[in-house]
Amino acid sequence: MDFSTLEAILRPDQILSGAAASRGYDCDAYTVDRSKPSVIVLPETTLEVAAVVRWCAASQVPFTSRGAGTGLSGGAMPALGGVVISTKRMNHILEIDLENRCMLAQTGIANRRLTDAVKADGFHFAPDPSSQSVSTLGGNIGENAGGPHTLKYGVTVQHILGVTMVDPLGEILTIGGKLGCGPGYDFLGLICGSEGTLGVVTEAWVKLTPLPKAVTTALVAFPTIRSATETVAGIIATGTIPAALEMMDRGIMNAVALAFKLTFPSEAQALLLVECDGDDADVVAKEMESVRTVCESNGCLEIRIASDEKERANLWMVRKKGIGAMGRIAPSIVTHDGVIPRSKLPEMLDFVYEVAEAHKIGVANIFHAGDGNLHPCFYFDDRDPLQVERVIEAGEIIIKKCIELGGSVSGEHGIGVEKMDLMPLMFSPADLEAQAMCKRIFNDGMLCNPCKVLPNQRGCAEHKMRWRGVAT
Ligand SMILES: Cc1cc2nc3c(=O)[nH]c(=O)nc-3n(C[C@H](O)[C@H](O)[C@H](O)COP(=O)(O)OP(=O)(O)OC[C@H]3O[C@@H](n4cnc5c(N)ncnc54)[C@H](O)[C@@H]3O)c2cc1C
Repeated sequence: MDFSTLEAILRPDQILSGAAASRGYDCDAYTVDRSKPSVIVLPETTLEVAAVVRWCAASQVPFTSRGAGTGLSGGAMPALGGVVISTKRMNHILEIDLENRCMLAQTGIANRRLTDAVKADGFHFAPDPSSQSVSTLGGNIGENAGGPHTLKYGVTVQHILGVTMVDPLGEILTIGGKLGCGPGYDFLGLICGSEGTLGVVTEAWVKLTPLPKAVTTALVAFPTIRSATETVAGIIATGTIPAALEMMDRGIMNAVALAFKLTFPSEAQALLLVECDGDDADVVAKEMESVRTVCESNGCLEIRIASDEKERANLWMVRKKGIGAMGRIAPSIVTHDGVIPRSKLPEMLDFVYEVAEAHKIGVANIFHAGDGNLHPCFYFDDRDPLQVERVIEAGEIIIKKCIELGGSVSGEHGIGVEKMDLMPLMFSPADLEAQAMCKRIFNDGMLCNPCKVLPNQRGCAEHKMRWRGVAT
């Protein structure tokens, strides 16, 4: 294939190729599956994206959208090679409408920048994945990302009013808009979470949510995992829905202590980060009092409540930097993602440690406990094929257990390539065919982010062995 003809569409500085460039785009943050693209393009406008996609369609070259590449299920990995369409340069805010509480932005913008632009006016973009300083609006839409504040504020789809999307033939579609979607079928809901398999989303209208007037944050230490997990269910059972209810285990505490010199009570085996917010300070204080009562009745060791914004940021540090800090512990991490009813957390956590021990791999847990959204982080060395195999097997056992307990194969990280083969555990062949039919509305071929989400797609099985394996 002659990729130089792309130069008729884009400037030379918008086209990257060669060994070093393709190596940099061969995986996302799920590093055990890799595949190199032939070319990476950096369009700046919807029209340029449409021109690239039309070129791919005419040349029968596969293409994959990519935001920041922080996805944790292989969604942005170019499974069949071809062109990676990076939205890196599509990072502009196009309109802010405070009166109607919405904003239009290009989808390559980092999540955090949306909030930064309107914070002084008392608003924020509520979806807040822990990767928010780099992960993009397009990637958040692709994965329907959640975050610590999902418990109270909902996931990305609840904050998107409309999108402009280039479909797999290069047509520009507008779905919803400043006022949201009109009557009829909810195509916007279909696009959010479709992992780039229906087209390239180039612009989006997002909702702006008022910042709460009162916020109180506590970091609570527990002597056992079980006392912390039982507290999670206990807090929700009181009727209080905290803005955030996050859990970290000793493995995460050790990593954060090493990286950032933070200290925790030596007997603590688990931490809960609890945040309550709202517009009435008295109500928020009462909610935190109720949280304190539940924590104490479960034998917590210590409760630190932030007295100002600086202290609040410090308490959040252990949550926000937890995964990054794991980078000091081992060369590779696979962060799994499953959901269970939160009342099953105690049983599930015991199971996670047992599985890790049986497979001789390290595990640390940092997760959105209030949602029952589990994230066991396996740490290992992906240059060793045996360790890779053990990590994959352990992950599959854990996900199967989530389903057995009434949960799901994914809470917020998507299916990508990682979980494709686990979809039949949750869905019947008829369910999966219905999903394939939905996909065909937009994408009737194999060019737009192929071999993702749905299992047994024609032409993908023979490539699988090539993706999976040892880092090169
Ligand atoms: C440290 C860390 C913490 C994380 N914390 C969270 C968390 O709290 N909650 C959470 O939900 N996730 C979390 N994640 C996962 C990840 O950050 C999210 O899935 C995020 O939404 C991915 O955004 P991205 O820009 O990196 O997308 P990418 O990884 O580049 O892409 C993700 C998917 O979206 C598609 N895509 C990207 N851009 C577009 C576009 N413009 N149009 C159509 N499809 C597109 C891709 O093809 C791919 O399938 C975390 C990841 C890390 C590394």
